[in-house]
Amino acid sequence: MSYDDKMSAFAELNAKREKARAEAELRVKETEVRIPEIADINRRLAAVGPRLMQLGIEGGDDFEEKANALHEEHEALICRKHALLEEHGYPRDYDLPVYSCKLCNDSGYVDSRLCSCVREAIVKRAYYSSGLGKALEGQTFETIDMRYYTGNTESGASVKEQMRYVVGHCKAFATEFSPGKESLLMIGGSGRGKTHLASAIGREVIKKGYSVVYESASNIVNNFEAERFGRAYSNDNQRYFECDLLIIDDLGTEFNTQFTLSVLFNLFNSRIINGVSTVVTTNLSLKEIESLYKERIFSRLSGDFTVLPFCGKDIRRQRKGTQ
Ligand SMILES: [Zn+2]
Repeated sequence: MSYDDKMSAFAELNAKREKARAEAELRVKETEVRIPEIADINRRLAAVGPRLMQLGIEGGDDFEEKANALHEEHEALICRKHALLEEHGYPRDYDLPVYSCKLCNDSGYVDSRLCSCVREAIVKRAYYSSGLGKALEGQTFETIDMRYYTGNTESGASVKEQMRYVVGHCKAFATEFSPGKESLLMIGGSGRGKTHLASAIGREVIKKGYSVVYESASNIVNNFEAERFGRAYSNDNQRYFECDLLIIDDLGTEFNTQFTLSVLFNLFNSRIINGVSTVVTTNLSLKEIESLYKERIFSRLSGDFTVLPFCGKDIRRQRKGTQ
């Protein structure tokens, strides 16, 4: 998980906790004004802690006895306050903070472990800062519909069998992910589920706590171009080099120039040297990649990436019933 995502999840939780406490403080004031006896009870309750501490300092043989008596006094005061609140038409917990998370009372920790509310908030933030936002929300391993993979490939193999292998490989890649272990090149025509599987991988890897960036090839190239002409800070593009998993969607749709080629080669090369993983999706065939990107990039992609060929008919068109 990224430091920023974690910090902003905690900042949000702290703000919620402060708000819950401030609102409770107002309710305390309100009840003390309306029911003066409660003001007196609250003062006595606040003195219990210091009195217990004083007993501890004094020590003595009767410490336990005195501490028990103090505990009983405390319970009796709480009981009396509850009764007073209810008598005046308030719920008995009226002056307590209402926290958004009952597990950790908005502290973020349960038994010194991160609370599930913080974990969920971090993952949610990571989805958005990774680029795997709302548009790709439903694209998980669970929502892959194998029924659309029918018939045979050009070489006569079963489309379903081949896609079972591809999906299985992607799942294993995600669940056993470790940065730099493997990179994937997903090839095949549009509408074969490449983007779906790439984003499913991204979500799983984020859940495991790794940093993920998901971006189209054309956006990446545009961002480097902006940096080159001073329209952006180079820091913004640093994430493409540093994240544990970079998902480059739709390689081949970016504008192809000498500059583009050097940006992409530099990116692939640096990531391999840095020991981090990359997933690339493309509608191009290996032959087209070779002729479009020249030897240097082609040998990187074919040599250092596991090639996953997607096959079958266009799923989007099948869904619309046009095929
Ligand atoms: Zn919590």
